[in-house]
Amino acid sequence: MTRLGVVGWPVAHSRSPAMQNAALQAVGLTDWRYQLLPIPSELLDETVAALPGSGFRGVNVTIPHKLAALALATDPTPRAQAIGAANTLVFEPDGRIAADNTDAPGLIAALPFPAADRTALVLGAGGSGRAAVWALLEAGAREVRLWNRTPERGEALAADLGAVAVTGAEPADLLVNCTASGLDSREDPFKHLPIDADDLARYECVVDLVYTESETSLVRAARARGARVVDGRELLVRQGALSFELFTGRAAPIELMRRAVVLR
Ligand code: NAP
Repeated sequence: MTRLGVVGWPVAHSRSPAMQNAALQAVGLTDWRYQLLPIPSELLDETVAALPGSGFRGVNVTIPHKLAALALATDPTPRAQAIGAANTLVFEPDGRIAADNTDAPGLIAALPFPAADRTALVLGAGGSGRAAVWALLEAGAREVRLWNRTPERGEALAADLGAVAVTGAEPADLLVNCTASGLDSREDPFKHLPIDADDLARYECVVDLVYTESETSLVRAARARGARVVDGRELLVRQGALSFELFTGRAAPIELMRRAVVLR
């Protein structure tokens, strides 16, 4: 059996196994399995080193290991290096470990219009904020503004990648939420953000990386104010489809993966 998985801590909430196993079955890789791999930080290095010997072809990497995963790779792509984080590791038969970041092209693929010549406001300077800023600039965005709850972290990322650090919600074509705000659906999603619901009308498209069982409050509020929206589940599918292709060399059955994420 060939194994795949998602490494994270915590990772129990992940929809990746349902999505990836449905895709493996659909392309006829019936002896491949994709599983949850809950691994705390202190065990990451030794566990990843043991995975190829246990039949693993590759893993996705999520919170909080994306930076550490890049450091474990022998062959990171220039994209993963520029972003400073990896969400996909592929174990080669000769012992090399390839690393890529599919969150960045996944975001661009999910947008309803090209990012070229557009302006964007990114909220959040964590791992996914880094990938979003890099992806939008690489796709030709005219300006990417970056807000973060902890301003120093936002300023450092902006200086590093060529974005403009801001302290409030300025209008832009695109708003991309890369903070964890909204993950707890009982909380007010705007409590720690520099925007409120009515500000959302100032953005042509609102993207929320956070995904929950149904639409997030941010996506619902943006839709109600006439913005085009991209749900975090669509980003999960897009980055997962690109990782699937790296793992298997097969075209990903995207529509089926989308259904597998939504259905419970
Ligand atoms: P991370 O590296 O831990 O960064 C977290 C970011 O969120 C930081 O900017 C942090 O600000 C901010 N933050 C945390 N709690 C907040 C709150 N209550 N209000 C405002 N800001 C808050 O995490 P990440 O990897 O970037 O992921 C961020 C979110 O995106 C997570 O919910 C994750 O599940 C989601 N995500 C989804 C996908 C997908 O495929 N849909 C892919 C990647 C990530 P400080 O710097 O001030 O702490």
